[in-house]
Amino acid sequence: MKSQEALARIVEGVKKFQAEVYPAEREMFERLRGRQQPMAMFITCADSRVVPNLFTQTGPGDFFVERNPGNLVPPYSDFVGGVSSGVEYGMLVLKVPLVIICGHTDCGVMKGLLHADQVNGLPAMQEWMRHASDVRHRIMRDHSNAPDEEKLRLITEYNVLAQIENLRSHPSVDARVLREEVEIRGWVYDIGDGSVWSADPETGRFSKVGAPG
Ligand SMILES: [Zn+2]
Repeated sequence: MKSQEALARIVEGVKKFQAEVYPAEREMFERLRGRQQPMAMFITCADSRVVPNLFTQTGPGDFFVERNPGNLVPPYSDFVGGVSSGVEYGMLVLKVPLVIICGHTDCGVMKGLLHADQVNGLPAMQEWMRHASDVRHRIMRDHSNAPDEEKLRLITEYNVLAQIENLRSHPSVDARVLREEVEIRGWVYDIGDGSVWSADPETGRFSKVGAPG
């Protein structure tokens, strides 16, 4: 798609939003005008196919969102500005009661961790991905013989668990976890079938969200 075509389609969307969607929800938008009180902080990948408000059926004002390639949270000691400042704001100003770190299937960053040649010529990405290097080592050590598909599923899950640990290294998070003011959950969203998988906080095992029993 060329840029003009893309822009035209986006502008059409803006028109439709203003003509149909906004008027139907005017009260809600006006309520949000001067303040936000999100129910959760949602940390996920930049991937265009991951639309948190869609697969959780939530809306404006519900999530304070942090997105980056691979849904990574650099440890506090590395002090990478964007994510750290978002975490700080979410914890200390918005005081969200819940943080969800959500990975997804078919993630380009997870594939890059498994196959370094896929990120050749991407120095910024290579540098960024070192925040998940422990996860790659774990896969190479424990699952080197697993089929590729299985490796990708495991690295996606392990990465979510590792980023929870990294998140805990942020003082604003750890203090609130210890006071039981915030819970942290790890999820994986399946793009192809729409399922959502959640890690058991004790065991790290993933099971389907909303599954009966
Ligand atoms: Zn991704």
